[in-house]
Amino acid sequence: MTERPVTIIGNQEWCGFPALKTPAIRARIDSGARTSSIHASDIKVFSKDGEDWVSFEIRPIQESPKTAIKCQSKVIAVRKVKNTGGTSELRYVIKTPIKMGDDTFDIELTLANRDAMGFRMLLGREAMKNRFIVDPAQLNLLGDYSEEEISNFYKSVKEISSGLKIGVLATNRELYSNKRIMEAGEERGHEMIFLNAELCYMKMDASSPEIRYRDGRILEGFDAIIPRLRPSMTHYGCALIRQFESINAYSLNTGEAITRSRDKLYSSQIFSKNGINTPITGFAKSPLDTKGVIQMVNGAPLIVKLLESTQGKGVVLAETSKAAESVINAFKSLKANILVQEFIKEAGGKDIRCFVINNKVVAAIQREAQKGEFRSNIHMGGKASVIKITAEERKLAIKAARVLDLPVAGVDIIRSNKGPMVLEVNSSPGLEGIEGATGKDLAGLMIKAIELKMRYVKH
Ligand code: ADP
Repeated sequence: MTERPVTIIGNQEWCGFPALKTPAIRARIDSGARTSSIHASDIKVFSKDGEDWVSFEIRPIQESPKTAIKCQSKVIAVRKVKNTGGTSELRYVIKTPIKMGDDTFDIELTLANRDAMGFRMLLGREAMKNRFIVDPAQLNLLGDYSEEEISNFYKSVKEISSGLKIGVLATNRELYSNKRIMEAGEERGHEMIFLNAELCYMKMDASSPEIRYRDGRILEGFDAIIPRLRPSMTHYGCALIRQFESINAYSLNTGEAITRSRDKLYSSQIFSKNGINTPITGFAKSPLDTKGVIQMVNGAPLIVKLLESTQGKGVVLAETSKAAESVINAFKSLKANILVQEFIKEAGGKDIRCFVINNKVVAAIQREAQKGEFRSNIHMGGKASVIKITAEERKLAIKAARVLDLPVAGVDIIRSNKGPMVLEVNSSPGLEGIEGATGKDLAGLMIKAIELKMRYVKH
């Protein structure tokens, strides 16, 4: 067996990490240390295809700490190390190719979030084995770069890596829509951070409002937030969004607009004020007014809806006035908030979901109820298909999103004898059914809407 020749290196050398978009970083060569480490900041673990990954920033130039490269890598080990203060901390280990001189080979690299003796990188003996020996009296034996060369390297790298920092504020990161939004943002070069709204807490303060995460992180520096709140999180979630807005993050749908749109009564009032057709809708506090409300919507058959309804679960069709009265009074005795609505029979169990982004209908599907069912919700067994909507429907969908001040909205429209009517507007419209049926990249369009708002230009 022929042994590979061993190269002599100095006590400091330039190395590069092609997979980490870092062409040159000065390393201290230290055969006293076993493992190699790199100074990384903003270290965050996330899961990708069931594996642990880590995102971090490398600031390769000591003198120019603003030049930060955003990187991601698979975690191959987690080590507990004692720092100089005696407390132990977790360090993530990644495996990545390193370029030294003309040689490129894989090394294990610990992500340390402090400088190693004033160097951004420390090369330990494990990486040198059978390859290098150190002459501690020398330096840069593999070559040196001028300051100009270094700044040229990073001129372009800085641009490539300067994506936006976007938080997805939701509760379940495994949901199709949330996964797609994270993925679409990453594909477009942004730093996507999943934030479980239940784990965020906040400080109200006139001079320094703050948001923290359960793991102790302060949530700051976000350019934008994409809220994807389930109905039970509306109240707290919208307060969080407003807090993010107060620390200058743009929210794709403001807290105020979501609050307004989730209130079915309030949004109905906004629609009627703006001349947007909806089925005739009645509401009363007391059971004494039940008969009056039934008359107001032109009698049975009629629809009774729980104000908190989603996925069609709280929507009932009452065929006769007697049945309607009983259902309404039963709901009221349970102190449930309901509204009563004229039944649009001619819709034949179909409705149309228009996905609106920035005053444009970017996709539309028809949902058709199962046989014997009037609710077309996918959760109720409804089927989705692509549909070409009319100009009138398009205008109506855009207007409904606009009067609620929602840049992103799912507008449900029903076709009645009196023309198209808005049934409801969803401020966190699901992506699965509609992307599946139309094949459109709606998550990508949502990210583009943020880029447009932030005047972000991809380099
Ligand atoms: P949810 O918010 O629970 O989905 P919706 O108001 O969207 O409640 O109603 C669920 C479904 O029931 C709709 O998709 C539609 O198919 C049907 N529906 C709702 N309101 C009416 C109505 N006034 N006339 C006819 N069908 C209706």
